[in-house]
Amino acid sequence: MITREEIRELAEFKIDRGRAVTFYFEPRTPQDKSHREEAILVKELVRNALREAEKNEKNGSLKADLNRILALAESLHGNQARAKAVFACGQRNFWREFDLPPQFTPTQLFVNQQFHLKPLAQLVGAQPRLWAVIVDRQRARFFELRLDELKEREGLFRTPPVRQGRSDGFSGYDGGHTQRRIEDEARHHFKDVAEHVKDGLERGLFESLIIGCHDTSWHEFEAQLHPYVRRRVLGRFSTEVAKLSNDQIREQASRILHESLARRRHEMVREVLDQAKSNSRGVTGLRRVLRSLELGEVQTLLLGSNFRHAAVECTGCRHLEAHLVRSCPACGRETRELEDVSDALIPLALRQGLELFYVKDDQEFDRAGNIAALLRFRTDQRRGRIERAAS
Ligand SMILES: [Zn+2]
Repeated sequence: MITREEIRELAEFKIDRGRAVTFYFEPRTPQDKSHREEAILVKELVRNALREAEKNEKNGSLKADLNRILALAESLHGNQARAKAVFACGQRNFWREFDLPPQFTPTQLFVNQQFHLKPLAQLVGAQPRLWAVIVDRQRARFFELRLDELKEREGLFRTPPVRQGRSDGFSGYDGGHTQRRIEDEARHHFKDVAEHVKDGLERGLFESLIIGCHDTSWHEFEAQLHPYVRRRVLGRFSTEVAKLSNDQIREQASRILHESLARRRHEMVREVLDQAKSNSRGVTGLRRVLRSLELGEVQTLLLGSNFRHAAVECTGCRHLEAHLVRSCPACGRETRELEDVSDALIPLALRQGLELFYVKDDQEFDRAGNIAALLRFRTDQRRGRIERAAS
């Protein structure tokens, strides 16, 4: 899959003379007859891009990139579960291929001076380092989950204490003794597992945690978890460890992660809109957001999936302007037009280390202009406070 660092590399890529090709491919299952249509669609997209390329310039490397993409799309069969993204620029010898989660974005092809990264915005804010811990009274399995990809780490296992001798079947003294030993063993085991998890968190191996555990053991295990580990638990699912396949773990953990992200996104949208309404730590609309970005006020940037807006970028100081002006209002140099300002906002968010949320299907957010930012502070209000303090 794709890391934040790789997205950053793509974001910094720019070629003034020449073309960068971005290709997103959404696979369909073979049962879905539209797979054929999908293949035809790719051919059509590539053919159109080739025609454009021939019209504008003699660009052999662009043609080669497009043909290579076409060949790749033809080799991807409909039963392929993952979506794919390709970023290519033959002129610079640049070719990157990534697997993406399914239903990521429709099949699309872009030829431009930079890569089209907006669909990736949904990954930037949605990649906590995640551990899934599957635990019962004797076993614990540890997994890393990143972008729907599951990797098994170590495990902790305890051999159950052997029931001995004649006392089996009696509920006498020995029977009670064995029972206590089993309870002790389980408690020690849960304690070891909790310790191992705490150690992982302290070593920065994960940020969030998902737990698979049977209902009857959950209370006992939870009691052993350190309070600050407990705060990292995104959710739990009920399961029998022995019967669980890796695919089921991946599905359950992904479901919990996505639910938790959706909740957080929802809360974030509400907060930004409230803050903006009360003229406090929130702004909405492209112009206000650009201004806040430039002032370094932004903590979290929220970008609607339907957001699209032309803008200009200064070729000198990189100032972004919502009005399509020829020269930069900040430094006077020439500007260049961006078909969609999102392509510049995502690199900017990555450079500034901002939290980024990609908002889908939210009517209120739509009405507020489909772009907003939560601020760390507001320069204008700060100045007001200082002036008031000085007077
Ligand atoms: Zn400028």
